[in-house]
Amino acid sequence: MLIKKSVNDLAILGGRSSFEEQLHVGRPNIGDKEALLRRIGEVVDRRWLTNSGPCLEEFERCLRQLLGVSHCDAMCNATVGLQLAMRAMGMSGEVIVPSFTFIATAHAIQWLGFTPVFCDVDPRTHNIDPARVEELITPRTTGILGVHVWGQPCDIEALETIARRHGLKLLFDAAHAFCCSWRGRMIGNFGGAEVFSFHATKVFNTFEGGALSTNDSELAWRVQRTRNFGFAGLDQTDTLGTNAKMSEASAAMGLTNLESLEDFVEVNRRNYLAYMRGLKGIPGIHMLEYDATEKRNYQYIVLEVEESEAVLSRDALQSILWAENVLARRYFYPGCHRMEPYASTMLGVGSRLPVTERLARRVLVLPTGTGVSEEQVEMICGILRFAVSHAGETAQRLRGTDTAQVSAALSQSRP
Ligand SMILES: *Cc1c(COP(=O)(O)O)cnc(C)c1O
Repeated sequence: MLIKKSVNDLAILGGRSSFEEQLHVGRPNIGDKEALLRRIGEVVDRRWLTNSGPCLEEFERCLRQLLGVSHCDAMCNATVGLQLAMRAMGMSGEVIVPSFTFIATAHAIQWLGFTPVFCDVDPRTHNIDPARVEELITPRTTGILGVHVWGQPCDIEALETIARRHGLKLLFDAAHAFCCSWRGRMIGNFGGAEVFSFHATKVFNTFEGGALSTNDSELAWRVQRTRNFGFAGLDQTDTLGTNAKMSEASAAMGLTNLESLEDFVEVNRRNYLAYMRGLKGIPGIHMLEYDATEKRNYQYIVLEVEESEAVLSRDALQSILWAENVLARRYFYPGCHRMEPYASTMLGVGSRLPVTERLARRVLVLPTGTGVSEEQVEMICGILRFAVSHAGETAQRLRGTDTAQVSAALSQSRP
């Protein structure tokens, strides 16, 4: 392990990088490769590549069982899944949604020609703040789209109460919350429907993919039709549909990864605990704690950086980590309301989103998952502890450094 003795040993100030290889946030978790290749071999031999093949049927059966839900329909991805859900639920006009989410949540609403109405979040949970939701309801509001950020459920009870009181549809973006629970019951059972993402970067992936789960049979039926062009029979459609199907190859990946899901979560939990120990007591570095009494997937290691205590800004710490090949990410920077097409059409909404704006300045997400070892976690914590304990000198040196190289590295985006 590379020990840093002086600030000159920080890679950003000319030292050697702590890691030869880049450590990513959201490097895919992949289960048993042999099992995957065997399943894909069977798919090819059957010549049944998509359209409710045996892998998909089995995958959906497993999902229903895991979630304890009556319907769970696999999708090509969560973004399209959210669109299908909103249409099938009969949303229109304005939909209340947090701005502190991945841009896909807002885009799904806008893509349908509806208007996302950005709501502020709770500073503690980072989830949509029910107390702010009610202020945003207008005669055009038809629904609330809550996001279970970091896999921590929204205040489901409060949102259900508001939805009922105002006759609104309630949908959850559960992209982060696969394998998580609320009051002992699995996410997937709440609101009118919940949509999971099985994108490569999530705790559980099907290459690309997602699923819509609901206990509403009629809604599930509409979604199943819509997912397959609206087909009701061989040569007959009964509604406007699209193509949101999951392929057999993706379902094969899903079946394979389901077999390792508990291992993925256990590795995440091990890394989470190592981060907790390693970051303890570093001034200005506050790590998000998960509720150990509920099921969590521990997929996100979330820091909030208090610059006045750390003496280094969140962005400075990110640059320091990047130079060490630790590709920490600013989630959900800068907030949906500051991204297009929303930024130029919704001028000034930032003033009613103070918590979102503050989080967008403070949050830093660190690498974890099966691609990151406990020793690597300890090294990452060591870098942060070193940087903060030499914050004054580091900050001063950074000001005098040509950070163009770092900025270039930071703008080098990856999914
Ligand atoms: C990943 C993600 C999505 C989009 O999921 P895809 O399957 O990539 O379409 C939507 N919302 C949130 C909160 C996400 O993190």
